[in-house]
Amino acid sequence: MKTIQTDVLVCGGGCAGIAAALSSARNGAKTLLVERAGFSGGIITTVGLPYFDGLIDKPSGRFVVKGIALELLQKLGVAKEGAKHIDDLRPDLITKYWGSVYIPNVEEFKLLSDELILKHRDNLKVLYHSMACDVEVKAGRISAVTIANKDGLTRIEAKQIIDSTGDGDVAHWAGCPTIKSTPLMPLTMHFRIGNVVPVKETKDAAKKVLIEAHKEGRLPNFYGPGLIFAFAKDECYVHATRVPADATDAADFTRAEIQGRKDAWTIFNEWKTKVPGFENSYYIMSGPYIGVRDTRRIVGLNMLSLEDLQKTTRHDDAIATGCWFLDIHPPETTLDKPFTGSGFQPKPYDISYRTLIPQNVSNLLVAGRCHSASSEASASSRVTATAMALGEAAGVAAALAVKSNSEVGVFDGVKVREKLANQNAGPFSEV
Ligand SMILES: Cc1cc2nc3c(=O)[nH]c(=O)nc-3n(C[C@H](O)[C@H](O)[C@H](O)COP(=O)(O)OP(=O)(O)OC[C@H]3O[C@@H](n4cnc5c(N)ncnc54)[C@H](O)[C@@H]3O)c2cc1C
Repeated sequence: MKTIQTDVLVCGGGCAGIAAALSSARNGAKTLLVERAGFSGGIITTVGLPYFDGLIDKPSGRFVVKGIALELLQKLGVAKEGAKHIDDLRPDLITKYWGSVYIPNVEEFKLLSDELILKHRDNLKVLYHSMACDVEVKAGRISAVTIANKDGLTRIEAKQIIDSTGDGDVAHWAGCPTIKSTPLMPLTMHFRIGNVVPVKETKDAAKKVLIEAHKEGRLPNFYGPGLIFAFAKDECYVHATRVPADATDAADFTRAEIQGRKDAWTIFNEWKTKVPGFENSYYIMSGPYIGVRDTRRIVGLNMLSLEDLQKTTRHDDAIATGCWFLDIHPPETTLDKPFTGSGFQPKPYDISYRTLIPQNVSNLLVAGRCHSASSEASASSRVTATAMALGEAAGVAAALAVKSNSEVGVFDGVKVREKLANQNAGPFSEV
């Protein structure tokens, strides 16, 4: 089998992974990013979701994440130079009710990621259409990760590894303990409908026909529905499908993808034939992948808990700040608001470096929604901007560990925090 050597390997180029790869390369480590899709961006580009939640503390309007997440928003024309408050964002791209900001075009995100990766080409290589699929572990270290792509199988020997697959794939295969929520949050296929002319009755009628379709067995599950006109006045971006599944089980994941696609088309057909405003509409696209909210999370050296959010626990080795509410999607049909439970809104809270460190393996960090957090806490820390902040921290830590001939699993999180502060990233929990 062919072997490639690198300082840092980043598995998964989603929200956390793109930030991890850029920050590792910028901090001087020879970095390889492998991503199963043909582009970076994860939820943004594989599912088509434009929101950067977790950036803004809703009550105060101030940013609790800066660094690469903010840089991306600046490069996409969403945030001003030096932005630090919701008022410094393009007003037409803010949803004040949620304390949320979104990008105007998810396709552009693919181009921006490519551009940034190529800009750092001396240190940063990318392999798209490449899936991490196995690991070799020797004496408590990952000695190689196997990837599968059009070259067949290739071994990657990396000094330090970042698992940003969303599912903790690498950690799981390396034997690190992981947990899953019970029940798992459901999957959602987002889709877009063009040439919609919304009228006063549209929203209520759209909900009514889905209730009927659900009762009559044509639509097994749905939520909301969310009819969002974010991209254009006549384009309806739909948040409504809900498919319970375990996306770490290949057969179940496939079933969910098929079900999500079918449900999205059913919703479109119901609306086109029965809802005022949809008469001349057409189905633009779904996905391209169904969205996965919740799978494995590592049981790390520290686990972010609901109590940490309630008491705003402080950590010397905080490397990121979370602020999103407890956004728990149940796996059954719900109307109007998508989440259940308290929807508790924490004050900006610290996330310890040790939530990225799995047990049993010394050269692996796990960043993004699969970092170490309880079910409740991860319902807050899983969102886009928070995942990017965790990825950026992991990239810094991996590069520093390589430079000092150390391992990420024993590296001092306080040093990671200091380095992040120098690059306008890291925790912004304190006002
Ligand atoms: C339907 C849905 C709606 C959501 N709504 C919002 C919202 O409105 N606002 C918000 O802020 N957040 C939202 N989220 C949550 C959030 O943005 C994600 O959880 C976020 O994507 C976490 O980032 P990540 O990098 O951990 O995972 P991802 O962004 O999913 O990235 C993981 C990447 O790894 C790749 N990958 C997976 N396995 C492998 C492998 N073995 N080898 C190589 N590559 C691999 C994937 O292709 C993907 O690109 C939503 C999530 C879902 C699913």
